[in-house]
Amino acid sequence: MKTDFVLQCILALQQAIETHQADIESLDREIGDGDHLINIRRGCTVVVAMIEDLRPLPPHEAFTRIGKKLLSSIGGASGPLIASFFLAMGDSLRASEQETITATNFSPAFSAGVEAICLRGKASLGEKTMLDVLIPVAKTFAGLAGQADTPAICHALRAEALKGMLSTKDMLATKGRAAFLGERAIGHIDPGAKSCQVAITAICDTVEQAIGASTTTAVA
Ligand code: ADP
Ligand code: MG
Repeated sequence: MKTDFVLQCILALQQAIETHQADIESLDREIGDGDHLINIRRGCTVVVAMIEDLRPLPPHEAFTRIGKKLLSSIGGASGPLIASFFLAMGDSLRASEQETITATNFSPAFSAGVEAICLRGKASLGEKTMLDVLIPVAKTFAGLAGQADTPAICHALRAEALKGMLSTKDMLATKGRAAFLGERAIGHIDPGAKSCQVAITAICDTVEQAIGASTTTAVA
């Protein structure tokens, strides 16, 4: 996987956020301040605007540039958290000294990104945030990378993301704006968990389609 494919995934992610815009927006209206969709959309727009500048770069450099740009352009609690995710992934991929992304170097990069969110947000599992999707997905990915084939990994990560997103419904929020609501947040899915689940699903779908297309070409 090279930078071109990373950019294809970003376009698919943007499209998926648009498809699920109503859900994401209403969740943040219910237990936040209603701006999560605006923040995520803004992030997608600024990254998509950088696509032609990112295309010639190695993946680690593309992730670092995306992180830096997001740091200065998305608002809300989610902006700096998502920016730190991309910056940490860039650092991890740079350290792997490989120009191509594989499950074996992307899984530790993804875990490093999730760890950076935990540190920045001072949060962990079970606090009704995006981490309730990202932590289990990172763990499952680490267990399967290098062990299972790519379609099996995509299948498992999509299922884990869905489970994590749904798990936030009955949680009490202890981080972010929803924490101010106390028990009133119970019964609502966390908006950040929803947008991460949508993003992970879109990326897994894009990876699977790319494999399917290359298999079909190989067979034809
Ligand atoms: P804001 O809360 O400032 O309005 P957004 O609406 O863009 O920002 O993002 C809200 C999402 O950010 C929440 O749904 C939650 O998933 C995530 N979030 C908030 N605080 C934290 C934190 N400390 N750690 C991890 N994620 C958090
Ligand atoms: Mg908000």
